[in-house]
Amino acid sequence: MKRIVSIIICLLFATTAFAQDNNFFKRMKDKLTIHDTIYIFVNANDTIPNPNEDEEEDEEEEEEFSEGIAVPIDTLNTDDRYRKVVLFDNGSWLYYTLERPDVPDSLRDDHWDTETVHSYNDIALKDLPEQVVITLVDSAHRWCIPHPGPVTSQFKFRWHRPHRGVDIGLNTGDVVYAAFDGVVRAALPSRMTGGYGNVLVIRHINGLETYYGHLSRYIVKSGDVVKAGEPIGYGGSTGRSTGPHLHFETRYMGQSFDPERIFDFERGTLRSEEFVLKKHYFNINSHQGQSDQQSLKASKKAPQEASAKSRKVYHTVKKGDTLSRIAKKYGTSINKICKLNGIRQTKTLQIGQKLRVK
Ligand SMILES: [Zn+2]
Repeated sequence: MKRIVSIIICLLFATTAFAQDNNFFKRMKDKLTIHDTIYIFVNANDTIPNPNEDEEEDEEEEEEFSEGIAVPIDTLNTDDRYRKVVLFDNGSWLYYTLERPDVPDSLRDDHWDTETVHSYNDIALKDLPEQVVITLVDSAHRWCIPHPGPVTSQFKFRWHRPHRGVDIGLNTGDVVYAAFDGVVRAALPSRMTGGYGNVLVIRHINGLETYYGHLSRYIVKSGDVVKAGEPIGYGGSTGRSTGPHLHFETRYMGQSFDPERIFDFERGTLRSEEFVLKKHYFNINSHQGQSDQQSLKASKKAPQEASAKSRKVYHTVKKGDTLSRIAKKYGTSINKICKLNGIRQTKTLQIGQKLRVK
């Protein structure tokens, strides 16, 4: 999915520059990137100003420029991410400056490490306040769901290890967006990140960091300022992953909490503009949907214990499967399987049917 920004330009650029050299255009075309294509609809009544009007010009050529409506066909990056070159079909081009988010330099002051995923390792949970109020967005700073879609795996203890984020299903190559305004702290390749695969960590103005894991590719680098909703990479299945998905984490001072406390991924909404982050939310057993009392109680449980209780195992019925064969395979009994699924022992199994076995 390509992000298309539609802008109507008034063509009042004082600094507009043109290249009438077609070779220039051809050279540039080879370097085009598609991810940030900007479609600009030129008002049919507008003419393209000629910055070279002081110079002696061929009368005919000038005529051609003022009459013709140049159609923008693509954009080209410059060293400045917020300044693009817009290319027109007649070989002309101009600079276009995008709205630049206002990110204070102080974001880079504390625990700024571009070489590691986790940079707050020296801060212990006990050192954090009991609660902190986080203004997620305000009139100047927006939000965006990093990738729309249902959560396929929640923030919880899973397969004997904590799953410190949510998984969102996607197809390899789907665009992933920055959740809030901020600056990219780390853009790291798979070989440097353990299970995260190609990962991006963005530090936000609101005080949080967000992680985007298993990307097939990222298109920003550490130090880049990003806006909420800006494409930052493409989904994939790099690192410890069994299929394409986005692993998304929300962290405060290095401690993770359930991202579903902030976003309703199903509906594609932000739950509230202000978020009260409580210390017990950092516990892996604490998640969205619990009352604070339940969360507090759950956070006091040993994670392993919670995991053993909540670990459900399912079996998909294949050709030739019988209840006794399935029971044997999972080291359980026919009776237990029947109880778990509310079925009788005489029940005919359907191929493809999902049975809970533990
Ligand atoms: Zn995950």
